[in-house]
Amino acid sequence: MILPPATLGMLGGGQLGRFFVSAAHEMGYKVWVLDPDPHSPAGLLADHHLVAAYDDYVALDAMAAECAAVTTEFENVPADTLDYLAKFIPVHPSASAVAVCQNRIAEKSFLAENEVPHGPFAIIRCEDDLRGAADELFPAVLKIARFGYDGKGQARVASRDEALAAFQHFKGEPCVLEKMLKLDYEVSVVLARDEAGTVCCFAAGENRHRNGILDITVAPAQASPFVTEAVQLRAQDIAERLAGKLGYIGTLGVEFFVCGGELFVNEMAPRPHNSGHHTIDACDASQYEQQVRALCGLPLALPRQHSIAVMVNLLGELWYEDFKGHGSYREPDWSVLHAVPGLRLHLYGKHHARPGRKMGHFTVTGDNGDQVLALALQARAAIG
Ligand code: ADP
Ligand code: MG
Repeated sequence: MILPPATLGMLGGGQLGRFFVSAAHEMGYKVWVLDPDPHSPAGLLADHHLVAAYDDYVALDAMAAECAAVTTEFENVPADTLDYLAKFIPVHPSASAVAVCQNRIAEKSFLAENEVPHGPFAIIRCEDDLRGAADELFPAVLKIARFGYDGKGQARVASRDEALAAFQHFKGEPCVLEKMLKLDYEVSVVLARDEAGTVCCFAAGENRHRNGILDITVAPAQASPFVTEAVQLRAQDIAERLAGKLGYIGTLGVEFFVCGGELFVNEMAPRPHNSGHHTIDACDASQYEQQVRALCGLPLALPRQHSIAVMVNLLGELWYEDFKGHGSYREPDWSVLHAVPGLRLHLYGKHHARPGRKMGHFTVTGDNGDQVLALALQARAAIG
């Protein structure tokens, strides 16, 4: 077991890393963050911020010398970086698990090989792959294999010709072509798995997106009028199985599509997940505390959820007068949110708001699902 006051390493300085730093501090650890952005939200809270690239071996050597173990909050950390650090100190999740989750081709192939339910897809490395793709895949979504997030690096294509144009627009980057599914709704599961293979699963949440970006999570998913207990339990079961197949250690997020009552894995995130933010306010232990525990070899907490929760993301457009990224830049009137009973506001301290950028979130908790959802939607309407 790695015990306080040991120093832990975090690769990535975004909001997920920031919440990890808070959880680790609460538990008596110190944290070093590596992120090239001098204003990174996690770097601002860390005991030390290494402002360097993820492949800066001088910085990695410093991290390996100071830290007892290293984790990540960002799936695009190069697998070589994780492999390099693992020569000196424990690194969780492993380079191999992160490599599967950071590349849509590897991820989809992994799901197929392990007979985990997923939607129809084709691997696209060249235009001929697109010409040979099955007709049944259209209409489809073409997604670049690496570095896409929040709907970026994706094109919805009605036909093969549109797909060819989109592939050229992506400059021939390797892609996956996914059949556009008719979604009933989406759910996700966040879990933690330790070295011995023990899994602690948070209750699945129901996710609603706007413009390809997560907007709202209702947790547990069953608090949503249209989610059944069977779907919730099956999602948790599939996520647990996946974590085992990956030999995963740490906090993992698994996104699902629900179509015609059936579940399909959409993607996996080798880190805490946006849809698990509510675990800070609605559970005995958050997804970030679980990440600390798994990294340090402490027993995982039983993640009892004591309240129904609705989480709402706050994007950068809120900082603009017309809420669309135009007009004068000003701080939203937070007093409107603080007036809502059961609401807790979390702001990430980001340097500058841009439309679509995740700047903060709020969580409303309570005992009655309908009431919590209504309050959260009212609060969102009131702030912009
Ligand atoms: P990101 O990395 O941006 O989260 P996702 O693959 O999860 O990428 O896509 C973002 C969202 O776009 C999904 O949560 C879903 O709402 C929608 N979407 C993506 N792929 C499909 C698909 N094949 N069929 C229907 N909707 C999709
Ligand atoms: Mg996603």
